Amino acid sequence: MIKKKAKIFIFTLVFLFGIVSIAEAYFLLGTKWGSSSVTYRRDASMNWVDTCTAAGNSWSSDVTMKENSASKYVIYKISDSAKQWSGETNISTAYGITTSATTKINSYVMSNYTWTQKQSVIAHEMGHSLGLADNNGYLLFEKPEYICLMIGYDYWRNKLGVYTPKTDDRAGVNYLY
Ligand SMILES: [Zn+2]
Repeated sequence: MIKKKAKIFIFTLVFLFGIVSIAEAYFLLGTKWGSSSVTYRRDASMNWVDTCTAAGNSWSSDVTMKENSASKYVIYKISDSAKQWSGETNISTAYGITTSATTKINSYVMSNYTWTQKQSVIAHEMGHSLGLADNNGYLLFEKPEYICLMIGYDYWRNKLGVYTPKTDDRAGVNYLY
């Protein structure tokens, strides 16, 4: 019983935190690269060269997101029918500074995506690597100012036609870098 109460309390806290933070529009992961010259490296499995370039360039007015063979941010392409997600990013961090990151792009889930929709998934995952969290404020409030690339669902981003960083995404990155 006590355990259950504690659980409910934690859920309430998280929910309130979400509501309060929504005023700032973007959500942060609590880690960022030590410089605004952020780079990525394509693993040999990631042969969507132009797609990655376009995704990186979509962030370019705020940070550099260029390909560099020495980068500690590696993008992989997998094809895994057992996974529901189109992209997953893992970050290693020390004292709030990102030391390395990996993005896995699951082409299996994106078999019927357009080129632009694939690019938006990569750009969204790059957003995570930069330090932005998912922001599903639009799903709660359905207001246009909450439309952003960091909406955590491909379905909604594709439905809304969000393929590149929006005002809130840029505000978050400009705050960080
Ligand atoms: Zn996400």
